[in-house]
Amino acid sequence: MIFYLARHFGFCYGVENAIEISYKALEENPSKRVFLLSQMIHNQEVNHDLQSRGIQFIMDTDGRQFIPWDEIKGEDVVIIPAFGTTLEIENLLLDRGVEVQKYNTTCPFVEKVWNRAQKLGLEKYSIILHGKPGHEETRATFSHSSKDAPSLIVRDMEDAVSAGEYILGRLSRERFVTKFEGKMSHGFDPDRDLVRVGVVNQTTMLATETQAIADYFRKVMIEKYGAENVKDHFADTRDTLCYATNDNQDATYQLLETDADIAVVVGGYNSSNTSHIAELCARKFPTYFINSGSEIRSASEIHHFDYAKKQKRVTGNFLPRKNPVKIVLTSGASCPDTLVDRVLLRLLEFFPHSKSVESLLAAG
Ligand code: SF4
Repeated sequence: MIFYLARHFGFCYGVENAIEISYKALEENPSKRVFLLSQMIHNQEVNHDLQSRGIQFIMDTDGRQFIPWDEIKGEDVVIIPAFGTTLEIENLLLDRGVEVQKYNTTCPFVEKVWNRAQKLGLEKYSIILHGKPGHEETRATFSHSSKDAPSLIVRDMEDAVSAGEYILGRLSRERFVTKFEGKMSHGFDPDRDLVRVGVVNQTTMLATETQAIADYFRKVMIEKYGAENVKDHFADTRDTLCYATNDNQDATYQLLETDADIAVVVGGYNSSNTSHIAELCARKFPTYFINSGSEIRSASEIHHFDYAKKQKRVTGNFLPRKNPVKIVLTSGASCPDTLVDRVLLRLLEFFPHSKSVESLLAAG
């Protein structure tokens, strides 16, 4: 068996920092209730471990409330996750007397996007946010950007084209409003607010997709206002992906050059960056997106996540019958390396001549 490992994979700075601060919050406050606004990161193992040590989640990842706000008191400790949070929730906590900055683990790369949006707002551009509307980070970024500029969320190229068609007068206002319901900032007027735009993104989107969306809006503005006036209507921002997303996506492109038979991508099923890595791998290999080694039930059965359909699938005979089998193995930014190790060892179990780690270490 040959494994091709990505040059960059696994935990990013933001996740490591957030986990460290969460454990510190528990340690420093043995007599207090410690809450997390929502899942720390999109990784079940880490979240379960934190819960087993006493941390309680206030919401789930889709914003459904587990613990009513009334139950949160000023003396409680509330940790803001790496994705950041909305201004509305921050104000709600401040009103209850919670010290929100003490254990605020918002990743600096997410804050960088907020600053970029603020700068665009000062320059009187509206914000087009390429992100998943239900994702915590996009909700947080949208809330912050809406403070400084009219903002619109586009999930993908299809959404972008709808907005572009409106700009070019080929989509009715009624259809625009229906399509973007819940994805426009308060008072957003497409006639007024789609005249001068800049694109930012959720830090974990697919870089090529954001670039294509930005290029599309540039083209639309050229068509409408002429190439000589494009600067007045389109802010040429580079994408706002974080370094970890860039590194992990670049490393995945390198894996696509290999002659692997299959790819195994490890990470939480609601993790945006992991699903993009799986999406890239699937362009070339049969790809299995799993959240842990236990999803590999036997040499012939794997339970994995279909990110496009958002459902679990079971595949038989996933290991090709050949020698050697070549496997691309990588993981997302919220996946601890130990999980990748366990997947690697689990796969090796199916090869009778493989040696245990212990025997290899003993052999020195
Ligand atoms: S994926 Fe990027 S933005 Fe998100 S926590 Fe990690 S470093 Fe920060």
